Amino acid sequence: MAAMTSSARPHLNRRLAEFGTTIFAEMSALAVTTGSINLGQGFPDTDGPEEVREAAVRALREGRGNQYPPGPGIPELRTAIAAHQLSRYGLSYDPDTEVLVTAGATEAIAASLLALVEPGDEVVALEPYYDSYAASIAMAGGTRVPVTLRPHSAEEAGFRLDLDELRAAVTDRTRLLLINTPHNPTGTVLTRAELAAIAELAVERDLLVVTDEVYEHLVFDDAEHVPLASFPGMRERTVTIGSAGKTFSFTGWKVGWVTAAPELVAAVRAVKQFLTYVSSGPFQYAVAEALALPDSYFEEFRRSMLARRDILAKGLAEAGFRVFRPAGTYFITTDIRPLGEKDGFAFCRALPERAGVVAIPNAVFYDDREAGAPFVRFAFCKKEEVLREAAERLRAL
Ligand SMILES: *Cc1c(COP(=O)(O)O)cnc(C)c1O
Repeated sequence: MAAMTSSARPHLNRRLAEFGTTIFAEMSALAVTTGSINLGQGFPDTDGPEEVREAAVRALREGRGNQYPPGPGIPELRTAIAAHQLSRYGLSYDPDTEVLVTAGATEAIAASLLALVEPGDEVVALEPYYDSYAASIAMAGGTRVPVTLRPHSAEEAGFRLDLDELRAAVTDRTRLLLINTPHNPTGTVLTRAELAAIAELAVERDLLVVTDEVYEHLVFDDAEHVPLASFPGMRERTVTIGSAGKTFSFTGWKVGWVTAAPELVAAVRAVKQFLTYVSSGPFQYAVAEALALPDSYFEEFRRSMLARRDILAKGLAEAGFRVFRPAGTYFITTDIRPLGEKDGFAFCRALPERAGVVAIPNAVFYDDREAGAPFVRFAFCKKEEVLREAAERLRAL
């Protein structure tokens, strides 16, 4: 009993004991109590397109999706997802057997890992990783094997994947590669050559690949998003995950999806039906319409996020941070060492008092906390005036 009462979370099982409340809750609470600008959690402070919001209202009023939608997702949305993959990437998926709608990308990730990983299997994932990956691998009883992205010596190159390290991380126990591009939190977009090498490795070692591409529409400058599923030998072994939350700025709707070969979709669906079964009924109709928006929407969305990136990047650089200019996502990772700091946790806990801004220590995205210690993440999916004000406040450092 002593052991139980001395534990902060006595009831959480051992597989998940390391996953208590997330840093996001702590930092968001700090933002409120200190009146700080919250650049911690990555959600936009402006809703997505009015016509998409209205489409949800219409669906709700007309009684579409107010009762359990079909388990795999409504046909209109599955068709729209397939059309999106075909028109953007030339990837052809059958809406009936190769597309599955999920409760956000988060459920897609969890269901994929629970479906495809046996206890004891190794899952190789890019570190720093999105926080749900480690928990989902643990829920599946898998062992995570991080491959760490590291800052390239060339300032502009940002964080890069070492392909030799990736290759070395694969063992006979490796079941799947969990890839994320554009990459949160570093903003790295894997190049065509890097993706080709990952694909070759997956084929050679006969690995499954789960690829989180929720930021597919947020790539900047010369970067290009290329789905891993489009490389030779990959279509049949790759589960591709997308989400409306990031692309259409409705993160609360939780509409995500999986595209993959029929056997993989069937496996993920088998798990998904016992997690949520279905979700987001009326929003599914709205997202089906959103995916059919003209190219101009996607271009304008990208352009506006690029402008915001540049405002925040400039402000951070002027405040003394080393800025890794992101080629994708809506996050900027910085190095705090030029400010004479080395512990991102301590820095982020003090930042609200010091400057009235909240950020996230990247160490939370690492198994190797040392490797992540000097890095801090700022979200720029906020109004330009909010970012300007944040930049002004950070000058105080
Ligand atoms: C936000 C995010 C998700 C979660 O997406 P939802 O659709 O909100 O569940 C998944 N992966 C990455 C990398 C993210 O940044």
